[in-house]
Amino acid sequence: MKKTSKNKLAISGGTPIRNLQLPYGRQWLDDEDINAVVNVLKSDWLTTGPKVAEFERSFAETIGAKEAVTVSNGTAALHAAMYALGIGPGDEVIVSPMTFTASANCILYQGGIPVFADVDAKTLLIDPEQVKSKITSRTKAIIAVDYAGQPCDYDALNDIARSHNIHLVDDACHALGGYYKNKPVGSLADLNTFSLHPVKHITSGEGGVITTDNFPFAEKMRMFRSHGITSNPRQRELSDSWFYEMVDLGYNYRLTDFQCALAMNQLKKLSGWVKRRQEIAKRYDIAFSSIPEIAPLCLRKDVSHAYHLYVIRLNPEKMHTDRATIFKALRAEGIGVNVHYIPVHLHPFYQQKLGTKRGMCPAAEKAYEEIISIPIYPKMNEIDVNDVIKAVQKVICAFS
Ligand SMILES: *Cc1c(COP(=O)(O)O)cnc(C)c1O
Repeated sequence: MKKTSKNKLAISGGTPIRNLQLPYGRQWLDDEDINAVVNVLKSDWLTTGPKVAEFERSFAETIGAKEAVTVSNGTAALHAAMYALGIGPGDEVIVSPMTFTASANCILYQGGIPVFADVDAKTLLIDPEQVKSKITSRTKAIIAVDYAGQPCDYDALNDIARSHNIHLVDDACHALGGYYKNKPVGSLADLNTFSLHPVKHITSGEGGVITTDNFPFAEKMRMFRSHGITSNPRQRELSDSWFYEMVDLGYNYRLTDFQCALAMNQLKKLSGWVKRRQEIAKRYDIAFSSIPEIAPLCLRKDVSHAYHLYVIRLNPEKMHTDRATIFKALRAEGIGVNVHYIPVHLHPFYQQKLGTKRGMCPAAEKAYEEIISIPIYPKMNEIDVNDVIKAVQKVICAFS
């Protein structure tokens, strides 16, 4: 591209590619979704009624898992998973630093100790060799994160978990609809957690789901999401209908019926939406393959990537600027870029309370300086996709 006045960056007073900013992700609701919610609002049950059970069954079926347990959000799903595994004070849980803080916070909720294992520099997925090196006699579990929507190396991770007699959790919040060796995400670890936040693959406003084949874990989490109260109907029959017992300290982490009605309708669209995300990713891959200053993350051969995020990585040696400037320039062009994520161990809370510091996970730290997430969501049309490509070409060209 020639450096003419037409290519003047918006950040320097040029004309932006878009006047209204394109977000990096957003929900897609239609009239059917709205009607599903309205019908529940007109019914007798607003919460914990038939729609919760119906959605849990459909979700489990879609994933190919035996059980699905709904909770109020993805963070509660992670907390419930830690509870089900019996994580408590002094227990260590190995987790990826390249994630949203909730993936590690859930360990702290239970009094456990997050231990960060660095990621593979090419994929930003937790590195099984690093996981191995962090295992001690106090390690109780591993939390893998399917960063951006690409499933981790589950054969390696399950081998490690099995050989040390510990559990594997998949924080699958990015990867609903993805596959690892033709097995759906949600069936890959002992417990698999999802978020139904509007930027995720399907939404219920706020919401979370845990899938598992382990029935006792599912029962524990159903109790945990409702104050630690058991309400075994048979027990109720045997005594009196008012009978229930609180057997452990739980929370109110329930999802409502009208949210489940929305999620239920959204679930029907999942496979089509994942296909559309993959199509957009392919367009980006092709368009950016001729720009040496940036590269997509590496794609593993044995997976189907669900593309919650499309992350580009800048090559700082080929540019005379930094990520912050590229970020600002893309925003000025009307492209709602983002950065996912500040490595968890670098947050002030973690540094102050847990003594984590720079240098502990060099691959994640280096990647953090170079990554930008560009818009990707099924409702994007061809004009939107082309605008993102044009803006990236324009900005990178100006700084190379
Ligand atoms: C979104 C997300 C969560 C938290 O989900 P909420 O529903 O917002 O609580 C946890 N982990 C990852 C990786 C996420 O992307």
